[in-house]
Amino acid sequence: MTTQSTSPVSSNDSKHKRLVRLTLGTVLVAISMISRPSYAEWFGEAEAHMGTEVSVYLWHDDAEKGQQAVDAVFAEVARLDQMMSTYIEDSLISSVNRDAAKHPVAAGDELFQLVERSLDISVLTRGAFDITYDSVGQHYDFRSRARPDLQTVESERENIDYRYVQLDKAANSISFLKKGVRINLGGIAKGYVVERGVDLLRQRGVQNAIVTAGGDSRLLGDRRGRPWMDGIRDPRNDGQVAISVPLTDEAISTSGDYERYFDEDGVRYHHIIKPSTGVPASGVHSATVFGPDAVLSDALSTSVFVMGVDRGLTLIGTLPDYESIVIDADGRVYYSDGLQQPAAENFE
Ligand code: ADP
Ligand code: MG
Repeated sequence: MTTQSTSPVSSNDSKHKRLVRLTLGTVLVAISMISRPSYAEWFGEAEAHMGTEVSVYLWHDDAEKGQQAVDAVFAEVARLDQMMSTYIEDSLISSVNRDAAKHPVAAGDELFQLVERSLDISVLTRGAFDITYDSVGQHYDFRSRARPDLQTVESERENIDYRYVQLDKAANSISFLKKGVRINLGGIAKGYVVERGVDLLRQRGVQNAIVTAGGDSRLLGDRRGRPWMDGIRDPRNDGQVAISVPLTDEAISTSGDYERYFDEDGVRYHHIIKPSTGVPASGVHSATVFGPDAVLSDALSTSVFVMGVDRGLTLIGTLPDYESIVIDADGRVYYSDGLQQPAAENFE
């Protein structure tokens, strides 16, 4: 049985304008993101997972329980990475990629549901978000500056189409309709991980926390009486914040062409692939999306990056509770309709 794709969110136009603050100058991202107070009750730790830095920062009255909560989040991150990493040969997703074109592969509840949500978001974004981008994506290695040649892009592009991924809800199994199709959850898994991390903290009674994985953060509550301030990086000035956004109990995700990339002959080859062309999306330097759910904010930041300013912000305008800030390739800043814009807005 093939599942029906439904829109992950409903439509509603009532939005309150929110003020976004420009941080002109040289505030360091880390400081701006979390101005750490010096009380003993704030706990914070960062570890390398999923090819990026994952950090947990929380308030707890009890030092031992606070530390246990931090440890629990990292254990959860490691568990999910083991399931969802295409770099781990015996991960569940690797077995799907190996065998799903031959026969349905039982994927278990969690992976199945995340793939199902990914396919729904493909429908919502008309294919801008597509986890099958990986048939092309697998040929990039940003550390060694490797990229697919034109011929490879042309042939692998044929394998990019989320409609090749078939789901059997009764068996939680996944099959591919075509040989050569591959899936990769790099555009949504970090959002899932931070959402799960915050769930775990909530279950342990934590009320104020941030869990971050690369460009995705889920904030729990506020910073004890004040909103958290999340900094959007200046895409072409490392370590500088372009815009800071006050947030409470929300998720924020940024996709940028400065995370994983190399430059060659004036062209930036980066990790966000436009499914319709099979090459890295151009026109945008960074796309930020914030709203209640980190899974959706993560996938939507990748999507808005691919869709570009006009189509991307039009899409966000249809989603109640989600807002977006896009910095284009000329350094111009664009805001979705629900945001009140600051006066100056150029970062190049
Ligand atoms: P980050 O990994 O920095 O948080 P993103 O959330 O934008 O940034 O995710 C980018 C990742 O998404 C890429 O590294 C790749 O794994 C995956 N990806 C690339 N292009 C697409 C696409 N068109 N649709 C879905 N996922 C994509
Ligand atoms: Mg993303």
